Amino acid sequence: MPDDHKVPKSPPPKLSEIGRLDSACPYCGESLAKRPERKTVCPSCRNAIYVRMRPFDRERVLLTEQQASKIEAEWTALQIWSKRTGRTRSE
Ligand SMILES: [Zn+2]
Repeated sequence: MPDDHKVPKSPPPKLSEIGRLDSACPYCGESLAKRPERKTVCPSCRNAIYVRMRPFDRERVLLTEQQASKIEAEWTALQIWSKRTGRTRSE
């Protein structure tokens, strides 16, 4: 018997590989003296640099404000998806 009576599989949300893994400013590319551990201001361009773990590979990356809100949205989408399917993406 075909098991097509099952709940249709829903694909995991699209995750983006954004942000910087190195210690350079995501706005101007200027190398920072020390890799920031939390939100900081670039001494070169004065923009706020965000530090977040991205859901794509769970790496901590340096992000622009816009990228940080994208990451937040992806985490939310991933949470909703995990709840709905009872799965985590790493399985
Ligand atoms: Zn900068």
